[in-house]
Amino acid sequence: MPQSDVILVVNAGSSSIKFSLYPAADDGRPLGGGIIEGIGVQPQFKAEFAGKAFKDDWPDGAGLDHEHFYGFLLDWLARETPETTVVAAGHRVVHGGTDFAAPVVVDAAVLSALEALVPLAPLHQPHNLAAIRTLSERAPAIPQVACFDTAFHRSIPARDQLYGLPLDLAEAGLRRYGFHGLSYEFVAGVLPDYDAGAAAGRTIVAHLGNGASLCALKDGESRACTMGFSTLDGLIMGTRCGSIDPGVLIYLLREKGLDADGLEKLLYKESGLLGLSGLSADMRDLLASDRPEARQAVEMFCDRVAQQIAGLAALLGGLDAVVFTAGIGERSAPIRAAICARLAWLGAELDPAANAAGEARIAAAASRLGLWIVPTDEESMIARHSRGLLAGAPAETARA
Ligand code: ADP
Repeated sequence: MPQSDVILVVNAGSSSIKFSLYPAADDGRPLGGGIIEGIGVQPQFKAEFAGKAFKDDWPDGAGLDHEHFYGFLLDWLARETPETTVVAAGHRVVHGGTDFAAPVVVDAAVLSALEALVPLAPLHQPHNLAAIRTLSERAPAIPQVACFDTAFHRSIPARDQLYGLPLDLAEAGLRRYGFHGLSYEFVAGVLPDYDAGAAAGRTIVAHLGNGASLCALKDGESRACTMGFSTLDGLIMGTRCGSIDPGVLIYLLREKGLDADGLEKLLYKESGLLGLSGLSADMRDLLASDRPEARQAVEMFCDRVAQQIAGLAALLGGLDAVVFTAGIGERSAPIRAAICARLAWLGAELDPAANAAGEARIAAAASRLGLWIVPTDEESMIARHSRGLLAGAPAETARA
């Protein structure tokens, strides 16, 4: 069988490692991929390659760490995909701070710069970096590429990166970074194929998944993001609170005996749709429920999306199109309809049949606002960046 060079794309989380294999030669579809999930609890492995499905599990594997599973993954690749050669590993890295405005090949200096950013994203960054470190130790010949969720937002004007805090705190890193950048970069890249006018104009992309945010695009560049210093800000999410009065946090610390860890758990894991409904973080469960709390959570989710779209439209000085993407945005017709109804005053008029069918163009012919569903693909963005860096494309020098 002929050898083919592949790029291993890795998205490492606290309890899971997702991976895909992309051709290194061209911008093609993934050749396979899989996930190791339940790390630290009950690890399971599922993968697909060349039309074949693979499964494994470790019923007594609660003690096995991420490092163990990177070893497992490399062994599995060598055993089950002998016709492929991994020529680069591309990683999703949540935080690139203000320095990393583009993907980068990771060397020791880059790794230590990224480690210094751990306090800015303590729940995600350590897992992303552990993946890079472990793979580079076990397979030192393979270049490791870091692709950042923050990088696409470095075009946000300096003033809009500030909070109303003393200016020296911005110097110390307390500023808006924005996230979901790989998703927005992908959508911005394909938008001209859908709506050339909106792509060259003012568009708001709604990335509505488990994590949810909005990005205001002007001429294809990020102008603002509802996520800011952290991934907590902005919209109500599956388990995250979204924008909140900071006075609430002071009260919780002082009067409810919460410490920083307790606050973190409450705001990241127990709030949002889950906390509001008392039922589930999954939008499908809430839409299927007739409990008033579930209904209220769904209404609040849509209210916030519409309110924050309006805020971003003011910042853009008008609006040409809204794009829906990610799990809820791509798959939930009722949520898209509820959001568009709230945007009627901005000129949004939905085509109900196109929306129900999940077509790309969901605006009625008379709609002033373009309305689109554009499936996102963060993994292919990472593969593309890694390919570009391997080929010595300009992104290599783009560290600001
Ligand atoms: P992540 O942010 O974890 O990458 P996704 O973008 O895959 O998440 O979105 C996952 C979420 O999408 C689920 O938690 C669920 O709430 C929602 N979702 C997926 N399919 C549907 C659907 N058909 N209707 C409503 N919500 C959906």
